[in-house]
Amino acid sequence: MAFTLDDLPVYPHLALPDGHTPHSVAALIMASLARNGVSGVFALANSWPLDVDPQYARILDDWVAAGHHIGNHTHTHPLLNETAAAAFIHDVSVADELLAPWISKAPLRAFRHPLDFWGNTEEKRVQVNAHLDRLAYRSADVTSWFYEWEWDRAWQYLLQTGRLEEAERLKAEFVDYAAAQVAHDAKTCRMVFGHDVIGIGLIHPLTFFTEVADAFFARLFAEGVTFVPLSDALDDPAYLRSGTIVTDAFQVYQIKIAAADGRVLDAVPPTHKALMERVFELGTPLRPPRRGMLVQNRRARAS
Ligand SMILES: [Zn+2]
Repeated sequence: MAFTLDDLPVYPHLALPDGHTPHSVAALIMASLARNGVSGVFALANSWPLDVDPQYARILDDWVAAGHHIGNHTHTHPLLNETAAAAFIHDVSVADELLAPWISKAPLRAFRHPLDFWGNTEEKRVQVNAHLDRLAYRSADVTSWFYEWEWDRAWQYLLQTGRLEEAERLKAEFVDYAAAQVAHDAKTCRMVFGHDVIGIGLIHPLTFFTEVADAFFARLFAEGVTFVPLSDALDDPAYLRSGTIVTDAFQVYQIKIAAADGRVLDAVPPTHKALMERVFELGTPLRPPRRGMLVQNRRARAS
């Protein structure tokens, strides 16, 4: 699979656990990628933190200096399904301008829609796709992600409430779950596209991930996963249907395509649904009351 990261340069507006900063979280992830030989990783970035503090540019500088790449993930992370086409298009252009120093160094102009929303009306979908074409972006969808926001919240809640053994156990549970999720996603891709698809994996730069990154990569290697450039994945004909469907569903690529074809597939491996329910419950006290996230969580629970 191609491994990607969303939402660099981390989240300056979020409260990180003691001792962590957006800079330290990014540095820990870069160190783990280097230790594990995972190179050329695209980070789909938001440019609004650069307005808040130009120092965040250093995270993007360091990312590119380490041999990784930057793509466009919009300026302010608007959700297309809740945003007018013109406003979304403007936001893409702002990010295109502010991120140009880093995007221009990448081997490919990659774009990722926030929450992978392609548009909930045909008008939005067509207008935004046309704008991405004008800016020569290739849309990078996601076939595997790991609900890591929920794991991060659950882990932080356990730490905050002194349940340290459970917090430690959660890390091993995540690694087991992640391996099952990747295998499940490879299976659903095969079911939908009829061949072995080069997956596109996504992780968010959260503190919890810095704690489990080495074990995560070791486990995926043990399961036979290899990491390839994003361009190799995007050349797979499976991705030709990217951005072609009007839907407001929050789903990974192959599940969305399957739904459009009238097939309902499990997003989470059935063997791990109960565990995911527990993780969602644990993180509930720390979940922000933000509409986009609420939509996301409701959908994830329903899947
Ligand atoms: Zn995002």
